[in-house]
Amino acid sequence: MAKKQFKAESRRLLDLMINSIYTHKEIFLREILSNASDAIDKLAYTALTDDKVGINREQFAITIVRDKAANTLTVSDNGIGMSKDEMEENLGTICKSGSLGFKQQMEKSEDIDIIGQFGVGFYASFMVAKKVTVISKKYGEDTAWKWVSDGADGYTITESQRANPGTDVIMELKDDTEEDTFSQFLEEYEVRQLVKKYSDYIRYPIRMEVSKSRKKEDSPEDKPEYESYMEEDTLNSMIPLWQRAKKDVTEEEYNRFYREKFMDYTQPLRTIHSSAEGTVSYKSLLYIPARAPFDFYSKDYKRGLQLYSSGVMIMDSCEDLVPEHFQFVKGVVDSQDLSLNISREMLQHNRQLTVIARNIEKKIKSELKSMLDNDREAYEKFFAAFGRQLKLGVVTDYGAHKEATQDLLLFYSHKQGKLVTLQEYADAMEDAQQKIYYICGEQTDRLSKMPQVKLLDDKGYDVLMLTDEVDEFVAQTLMTYGDKALCNVVTEDLGLQTEDEKKELEQKAEAMKGLLTFVQETLGEEVQEVKLSGALGDAAVSVSPGAGMSFEMEKYMRRANPNVPFPSHRILELNPEHPAVQAMEKAMVGDTQKAKDYARLLHGQALLLADLPLTDPVGYAELVCKLMK
Ligand code: ADP
Repeated sequence: MAKKQFKAESRRLLDLMINSIYTHKEIFLREILSNASDAIDKLAYTALTDDKVGINREQFAITIVRDKAANTLTVSDNGIGMSKDEMEENLGTICKSGSLGFKQQMEKSEDIDIIGQFGVGFYASFMVAKKVTVISKKYGEDTAWKWVSDGADGYTITESQRANPGTDVIMELKDDTEEDTFSQFLEEYEVRQLVKKYSDYIRYPIRMEVSKSRKKEDSPEDKPEYESYMEEDTLNSMIPLWQRAKKDVTEEEYNRFYREKFMDYTQPLRTIHSSAEGTVSYKSLLYIPARAPFDFYSKDYKRGLQLYSSGVMIMDSCEDLVPEHFQFVKGVVDSQDLSLNISREMLQHNRQLTVIARNIEKKIKSELKSMLDNDREAYEKFFAAFGRQLKLGVVTDYGAHKEATQDLLLFYSHKQGKLVTLQEYADAMEDAQQKIYYICGEQTDRLSKMPQVKLLDDKGYDVLMLTDEVDEFVAQTLMTYGDKALCNVVTEDLGLQTEDEKKELEQKAEAMKGLLTFVQETLGEEVQEVKLSGALGDAAVSVSPGAGMSFEMEKYMRRANPNVPFPSHRILELNPEHPAVQAMEKAMVGDTQKAKDYARLLHGQALLLADLPLTDPVGYAELVCKLMK
């Protein structure tokens, strides 16, 4: 009998399949099972209006048979089946998807929900099979038909035998090669895993003979012997948790599902189960984990939610569903509105998906906000695990998305002695206070002793202590919060001086010009500028980087790349009111050497206060001793 050739466009797709466009060949089983489930959907639907179908809902099932001797894997269903013409149409042509046509026809009815609007599914079998045989009998017809193809040379259709309506897809597996083992698909364990992984929630039982063990009947009770036997078992759980009504799911069920599905042994902090109707309908079940997976902050971490279309998993981690700043969220999204085509694996920039993603982002944000407002303890736990990700969200793309996470950040408040949000800081500001003050460094107790902090403290102004490496980048990216500017107390003008005070300081600087030049000349290259400051409180000196890279940033860079020196701009600030500075000025007239020593001593002090290394520690120690003598 002459073989028929596949239609041109099918031929092309088939070539792709045989040479596998899918990275995971194993998904062929999901495709075949989805088709079987669709076919049952159709017959179940027909049964609603046609009482001759003679099969009730409980009897619908999909069966998998592994035959190692014949090297075949068979998937059978008792669904609607295919006529000869339908076989020709559906299996000979790819672009015309039978399911899609059926769905359009039945658009207005409700109980029908068909997963296979995709159009390439069946051909996935050629990724693992060298020969595929489909035996099918259409409901309401007397004759069964057999479609056979080895992919490459087209297909044949001949008359065949089948007792009841339904379809068998018999896949004769390819021979194992160095790279691929196809025989694994005949192993009980492997098939079980695949069904669990991809098709667990198909709403009809997927049944298969599995090996079990039992006590031998005539073996004694005290010395039981066991024998193994084969028995049919259902491999799938059938009802996805997210499809159930919220009120019917217990917390324990939610948590167990999370632990098993996402392989985390700790309970999630929050579960967000929601159902949306509208432009796009979908159900989503999202989790906020309590701790970061070990690879969370590395390149290996895979962001994304599992994407299902009517109970069939089509993507393991769909990145487009969750923004980077919330990439800690785990979960599943199930929508029957997704029009997915050839590249299920590569669906991107899909309009429906964008709508879902936007809603999901909102949901996550409001859940976090509510945790922040109502359960601070849980939120702080969350923040300890994932706060850095929220901060990265601010910094990414030069702050383009800072609105998304800035309200969710926590920083340590010097005044309140605990973590606060920027809003809480702003709400607690003194009337006269203009700016949101912050200081960066590793330890809060050290930071609290900095002269600038002391000065602000005396005025009753709070200072945020930014102790995380990324914090300074965050503050620099934010620049403002609401109508308040963020101010780094070490590098920026605190904005506390009145015009008169400023003028006074300028006059003093003019008067003390000789001293400033003297100190500058004494210290040479070590400082780029020497000036007076009115913001040092009780301290005599301070060193600041001016408008350049801050010292914290410099330390950060140096940690990242120790070999490259990043010298910041260094400004030595002197407090003109301080007796030590005045003593230096006095010494300048009579004892220049002493004044030089004082200048070096004060510079060393300033470096120590800023937690910067002394350029010459031995020289500094000698200097202290010399002056004490
Ligand atoms: P899709 O499922 O996306 O429509 P497939 O290539 O997987 O595309 O299948 C093509 C068509 O073949 C299906 O739409 C359906 O009409 C038919 N078909 C496939 N498998 C079966 C089956 N087990 N029972 C009945 N019809 C089937």
